[in-house]
Amino acid sequence: MKNSSIFWCTSCLNTSTRPRIIFDKQGKCNACLWSEQKKKIKWKSRLKFLKDHLKKNKNPNSKYDLIVPVSGGKDGSYVTYYCKEKLGLNVLCVTVNPPLRSELGYKNLENFKKNEVDLLEINLPYHAHMKLNKFGFVKNGRPLYGWLIAIFTAIINIANQFDINLIMYGEDGEAEYGGVQKLKSKAFFDIEFIKKIYLSDQYNNSLKILNFKESHWWRLPKNSKTRMSHWSYFENWDSYRNFVVSKKFMKYEENTKKNVGTYTNFGQNDTLLYDLHCYLMYLKFGFGRATQDIGIDIRRGSMTREQGLQLAKIYDNEFPDYALNDYLDYFDIKEKTFFQIIDKHVNKKLFFKKKNMWVPKFLIN
Ligand SMILES: [Zn+2]
Repeated sequence: MKNSSIFWCTSCLNTSTRPRIIFDKQGKCNACLWSEQKKKIKWKSRLKFLKDHLKKNKNPNSKYDLIVPVSGGKDGSYVTYYCKEKLGLNVLCVTVNPPLRSELGYKNLENFKKNEVDLLEINLPYHAHMKLNKFGFVKNGRPLYGWLIAIFTAIINIANQFDINLIMYGEDGEAEYGGVQKLKSKAFFDIEFIKKIYLSDQYNNSLKILNFKESHWWRLPKNSKTRMSHWSYFENWDSYRNFVVSKKFMKYEENTKKNVGTYTNFGQNDTLLYDLHCYLMYLKFGFGRATQDIGIDIRRGSMTREQGLQLAKIYDNEFPDYALNDYLDYFDIKEKTFFQIIDKHVNKKLFFKKKNMWVPKFLIN
């Protein structure tokens, strides 16, 4: 079997097909290189920079120092915990409820509310939200696209309304998991970065499918002074630590079963559509949810590459059968159309169809 269309990081299992990833001459991906560089970063001085910035830039009209976007999941819960309990900040937590919420996602947000936090919950208008998600699914194989936009635009709107000058997101996924390296040494990022990187330059196109009134939560306010930052700039990002701390102090609960497409049971389990998102990611790029988790575990030293290879082969290709009817209902499409859309996004250099299943042509190594 020839692997001419794809190769893997020699240290973790990141693939060459991952958008924007870079490899060094030894074949190490930039997520692995970053995990080594991080050991030399002076985190204390970055945290001091944050404290100074907040002191200087807090809006005197606002009760709050910053917004932390949350879902009740481990990462937002951890950042809230740190800002509130360790730094003594006034945090406004904001959640943008995803479509097709899972029972566990619902429960965790309810649990999160018991933490004496100020939480603002946004429920986006159902049909406009669905239309944008469907646009993402059909056009780019991204079934959570409308939600992803709103995580930025709706929250910037709230920041403006409440005169809050800083929004603190979780990790810079590009540096942490492989991608552009621009934010490794930059505390803040801007709207253009979001549009280009996180929204794959489809933001303006996608909004054209909504009328002006419908698009309110997805439009960017003019002249916003609010700055955006990733917590991973100020403290070494460790998603397993986030899980442990959130479980202990923020009432976070993990899944009782493993999540679909991987061997772990915590993280990204707020919506049934994330499982579809990961399956499509696998068919588009040849790496799935398990490979992402394996990379994290290898870089934090809790798994060998050999162990990772075995797990990726078992779990990456898992289709979320259990939620098929929910997907069909939500997007209001027939099963045949649903699978035609999926087929359209498959990278045919990497997969072939056998008995109605997409099977990899490559052998992960
Ligand atoms: Zn790597």
